[in-house]
Amino acid sequence: MEEELFCIGCGAKIQTEQPDKLGYTPQSALEKGLANGEVYCQRCFRLRHYNEIQDVSLTDDDFLRLLNELGKADALIVNVVDIFDFNGSLIPGLHRFVGDNPVLLVGNKVDLLPKSLKRGRLTQWMRERAHEEGLRPVDILLTSARKSHEMSELLEKIEEYRDGRDVYVVGVTNVGKSTLINQIIKQTAGVQDLITTSQFPGTTLDKIEIPLDDGHYLFDTPGIIHRHQMAHYLGKKDLKIIAPHKEIKPKVYQLNAGQTLFLGGLARFDFIQGDRASFVAYVSNDIEPHRTKLEKADAFYEKHVGGLLQPPRPDEVADFPELVRFEFSIKEKTDIVFAGLGWVTITKPAVVAGWAPKGVDVLTRKALV
Ligand code: GDP
Repeated sequence: MEEELFCIGCGAKIQTEQPDKLGYTPQSALEKGLANGEVYCQRCFRLRHYNEIQDVSLTDDDFLRLLNELGKADALIVNVVDIFDFNGSLIPGLHRFVGDNPVLLVGNKVDLLPKSLKRGRLTQWMRERAHEEGLRPVDILLTSARKSHEMSELLEKIEEYRDGRDVYVVGVTNVGKSTLINQIIKQTAGVQDLITTSQFPGTTLDKIEIPLDDGHYLFDTPGIIHRHQMAHYLGKKDLKIIAPHKEIKPKVYQLNAGQTLFLGGLARFDFIQGDRASFVAYVSNDIEPHRTKLEKADAFYEKHVGGLLQPPRPDEVADFPELVRFEFSIKEKTDIVFAGLGWVTITKPAVVAGWAPKGVDVLTRKALV
């Protein structure tokens, strides 16, 4: 039997097969490490040498353990969400796990939303949605980790609300948590040695500890995987296309009942019944919507998916999940949300259907804009 090795940084069992799992280290690095007598997993190696945080995924049991830890700790919980994919970035039941600990809600990627959208309105909207989920954040902050916006405000709020306690940063994958943590490290740590990783040989690493100046820690926990995010159904290239890079330019369509709007080949919106009205699509500027007649839409999709309707790309069509239909009867101004892709705002009462790849949620919410 092969000898079991553990990372000297975090104690995770070293493995060379699965890059996105705990304890991964490339074979070549492992050999080097063995030669120097210092075996680190890639994640700890990068953290030590580049001050960089890497994503790893955990099993459901590990997550449950982690979430349970939140309630037992006396700490400030910083919950990072992607404001562009708000529903896809909520952690189901988080309020039950946090116990009495205060939660600071951070809406990241605010750079993607139209500037015309008032920030006060946005935080109010987030507060209402959080309350619907049973979460009562002590405060809400909008950030752009990528553009390094509001980072000092974030640090000030963390300092204020942690009130001498530890901090746990939690979020589902892809909300920009690593980018945000890396920004925090940059802002706070001039010295590389300030960042250390815990040493409990034989245990599994499930978080990274960033020491704070009063002997407490900021814990970065691994991103929690949300299975209904669109991201899990797409190739890396398509993900790049659907994830907006810049401020979204809303696209307005005047539609009659009996018309369909395709969002590339990723999603479909049917206007089934109602008076002629405007519909506003908020998706990456790189996704081209196509309008067609509802009665011809099935055939149109069959014929053009992977071609005129991209993504998916031609070689991905075979593996791309079929679109599943959700019908809604709309009474007031509402967003039909395609988890992770964007949304369509409906301005008047209507019967509509939203289609998304099997496994991806389509839901309605009070209009954001
Ligand atoms: P994590 O899985 O939550 O750790 O997310 P990452 O930090 O790996 O980021 C996921 C993706 O979102 C990457 O493509 C980032 O470049 C992007 N991202 C992170 N923060 C921002 C932000 O503030 N604005 C925008 N537009 N993109 C961001």
